[in-house]
Amino acid sequence: MIKFQQDLSDPSSRAFNIHPNALIKKDKLKKLFFNIIRKKLNFLEENYLLTIINWLEKETIETQNQNKNNILKNYTELKNENEEYQTLYNFLSDYTNIKLKPDTIAEYNLEKLQNKPISLSTLKKFSQNKSQNINLIPTEPEKYILFSEESINKIETQEFNIFKLEEEVGAENTLSVISCYIFNSNNLYSYFNYNKFENFLQAITKGYNRENPYHTDLHAADVTQTSMLYTKKANLVKFLKLNPLDIASLYISCIVHDYKHPGYTNQFLININSPISIRSNDTDVLEAYHISQTFKLIMSNEKYNIFSELNNENYRLIRKRMIGCVLATDMIFHNKQFNFVKDNITNFNISKGENRDKILENVNEKIFEVQQDFLEILIHACDISNPTKPFNIYSFWADKVVTEFFRQGDKEKELGLKVSMNCDRLTVSKAQSQIGFMNFIVLPFFNSLTEIFPELIFLSDNVKNNIEVFKKIKEKEDKEKEEKK
Ligand code: AMP
Ligand code: ZN
Repeated sequence: MIKFQQDLSDPSSRAFNIHPNALIKKDKLKKLFFNIIRKKLNFLEENYLLTIINWLEKETIETQNQNKNNILKNYTELKNENEEYQTLYNFLSDYTNIKLKPDTIAEYNLEKLQNKPISLSTLKKFSQNKSQNINLIPTEPEKYILFSEESINKIETQEFNIFKLEEEVGAENTLSVISCYIFNSNNLYSYFNYNKFENFLQAITKGYNRENPYHTDLHAADVTQTSMLYTKKANLVKFLKLNPLDIASLYISCIVHDYKHPGYTNQFLININSPISIRSNDTDVLEAYHISQTFKLIMSNEKYNIFSELNNENYRLIRKRMIGCVLATDMIFHNKQFNFVKDNITNFNISKGENRDKILENVNEKIFEVQQDFLEILIHACDISNPTKPFNIYSFWADKVVTEFFRQGDKEKELGLKVSMNCDRLTVSKAQSQIGFMNFIVLPFFNSLTEIFPELIFLSDNVKNNIEVFKKIKEKEDKEKEEKK
């Protein structure tokens, strides 16, 4: 479970490693999670939901400073009397991971709770409601509403399973939860207005089309989490000498990079003369759209203006970085980016990370551009990173991307257009197209990237493994086809 309440003076408290300057923001973050709880628990009776939330808020805000002597009733006595109260107590202590003192819960609103007793059968009923993926009874802790311990522990590892997190926090919250986690752990709330960031995240999430099989806010959340993983594993902040605004620009770019994606490719939108291709003169059609729509949202209402606390110079810098990063996700730049990586390896004689520091030596006033080149490489890498994940996670993404391609193929047939590559469900094999994507695009790119950043070698290893798995699937498919003939 996520730790709402932590001893901020304790550096080992790592779930939310909050900078002291960001203390107030932590409270706001908590509110976001309460909103999630509220939504998730909206089937609970309003009265005692409010009681729970009031209590949680009181407990977490006032922390340990309460007068311990002011105990209304002895908890031990109470728990023996009242099974319901015990259930609530267990639920709350596991739910919040707050080290509840039996006396503090007894102390708080005892009368209120007794006046409006919580029905154990109601709680149990909800725990059986599998479709809600919620279990209020702490016998199956993995089913709690917020991050499970496992998710939060793995969020900075390659085993992190975003589909599991989505189940835990709900589809509409996944992008927000990941973004808040990253902003907290990087102390970025000192630069951005938390409330506006929350509004912004909700609006961006809504702007992603959940009807798309692949290009949804979940993909954005995946790219965002992946960029954090790469940044941390390869220690990119140190290597690229990034300041907090640089790093924020990368993460915000990941969050918005496919905002309002219609589920069709640039070429398709050009072929049908769509308004967005006309507006961008057929150049970086979707990418130009994603980023311009993002800034349109930011400027549309002060409540979305996450940059309101930046001075003009910093705003210009972050805007420049974000435009560059989002445009860099156009696959048209893949070869250019690949060549950039290879050129660096050759020019500086880089091998397994050795000599890589030379890249940033003597760049002087060009540092902004070199950093930008790497940030763009990074976001592109994350955007095509699903074959670098363990197969159990990658296979979900492969299904989604192929479904979206086939849906476009169907549309192209309907409109009498030439069916795009990999989009004809009657002739394309998922396994074959994934093997091709990995062999020709992903593996060579990651092989070069990991020459500079050997800390990421596990990515190439995963791709190699995934190629073998899909090869076996393909062999099986071919055999079945043969037998049918
Ligand atoms: P984006 O549209 O910003 O997500 O750009 C990434 C592009 O990479 C996608 O549009 C796809 O063309 C391609 N891509 C990513 N993952 C896969 C995959 N597993 N199989 C085939 N193409 C992929
Ligand atoms: Zn993308």
